[in-house]
Amino acid sequence: MKDKDTNRDDGSIIFGSSQMREPAPAEFIPKHGTPAETAYQIVKDETFPQTQPRLNLATFVTTYMDDYGTRLMNEAVGVNYIDETEYPRVAVMCGRCINMVANMWNTPEKGDWKTGALGIGSSEACMLGGVAAWLRWRERRKSEGKPYDKPNLVMSTAYQVVWEKFCQLWQIEMRTVPITHKNPTLDINEAISMCDENTICVVPIMGVTWTGMNDDVQALDNALDKFNRKTGYDIPIHVDAASGGFIMPFLNPDKKWDFRLKWVLSISTSGHKYGLVYPGLGWVVWKDKKYLPKEMAFSVNYLGANITQVGLNFSRPAAQVLGQYYNFIHLGMDGYRAIHANSMDIAHYCHHSIGRIPCFRNYADKLDNPLFIWYLDPEYDKTAKWTLFDLQDKLMESGWMVPAYTMPKDIEDMVVMRIVVRQGMSRDMADMLIADIKSAVAELEKLEYPTPSRVAAINAEKQKGKVYTH
Ligand SMILES: *Cc1c(COP(=O)(O)O)cnc(C)c1O
Repeated sequence: MKDKDTNRDDGSIIFGSSQMREPAPAEFIPKHGTPAETAYQIVKDETFPQTQPRLNLATFVTTYMDDYGTRLMNEAVGVNYIDETEYPRVAVMCGRCINMVANMWNTPEKGDWKTGALGIGSSEACMLGGVAAWLRWRERRKSEGKPYDKPNLVMSTAYQVVWEKFCQLWQIEMRTVPITHKNPTLDINEAISMCDENTICVVPIMGVTWTGMNDDVQALDNALDKFNRKTGYDIPIHVDAASGGFIMPFLNPDKKWDFRLKWVLSISTSGHKYGLVYPGLGWVVWKDKKYLPKEMAFSVNYLGANITQVGLNFSRPAAQVLGQYYNFIHLGMDGYRAIHANSMDIAHYCHHSIGRIPCFRNYADKLDNPLFIWYLDPEYDKTAKWTLFDLQDKLMESGWMVPAYTMPKDIEDMVVMRIVVRQGMSRDMADMLIADIKSAVAELEKLEYPTPSRVAAINAEKQKGKVYTH
């Protein structure tokens, strides 16, 4: 390809090439190719203005792995997990990971291979747990000669969106217990009062996405036990432990929320959240083979052992399994504990520092997980010219992504801001963040006129007839 100004043929001068003068392909596959170096540069630069992943405090998902973990994953990038015949050792590794996750959650299941599955994330893992609960319920209803066309599921309004998807896709009625300021986690009595003969399961959350708090699974288990005994139902629990599943075993091992509880029959988690693997990886484990409906399981025995395969996807990357197995071997229980204890420590430090800034109030006094939310002091809020959405924008200027959002249904008036502390966030970074928050607030306080987001908030309040003093 000749360059029109210089008449050069040399495609190796990347920024001297004709492609760098052209708009990037957006609609059609280009007729001719582009030299690798230039194509690489174009693609790379497209991502240039984005947030640095480690400054993204909005995500729960891993943004740092060490060099060896990264290398292993890169080296396996061409391996398709589903080709178990060609890559049987990956399937064995996956089985070992399921064993370790199951034992980490105190499974009572004996035998060489525990019952579980890998997923692309918690979403797939939650779906599999939900489907299994639905099929078990349906089987039971059929055997009793009762109708099985109106299944429902009970959880709090602070559910992650996957549960809405699950209920929509499988046509299961979603019964939600409101999260309120008085009851910031799943209200157990309310949950029980929503259960009936058509309830496929109750889904408490360890590490609620909206607040970082844990539902009280043990109290739910007790209440459900009484209810099941009284009614003759056998409504089980699926724990959505997307974040908490990899926190509790290390930081709070004595707390019972897992298979030590009678009605907890399945648990899901994200290997790519506090399992410390790059996306996407999820795990779901059942308490015993008998809780995994046969229709969902596909057994293979060519690996020298019976391995049960379950999943929504067929093809999927294998690299994440290598990353997880590497983390288990390299970090060990001690390593996971050390990393998560540091995250918790830094989260406490941020929580404390933010709580001391006069215009803020922390949502909770104590942290269940290394993440927390806070809001504008209600008195301050009445006269402020800015909102937390403005603060989010301001912090973007120094590279941080700290999200502001409205709370779920019933308390959707409340705007909060959240920080998720993960491996890769040091005390020094926390100090930089706190300093940036303080100077952003100082700048916002100098505003003479309300920001557009504040004006919108004032108008919304006016419509409700509230008094405001701006
Ligand atoms: C993140 C999350 C999910 C979805 O998990 P992915 O791994 O992103 O698919 C489900 N439930 C909860 C509570 C979560 O925090």
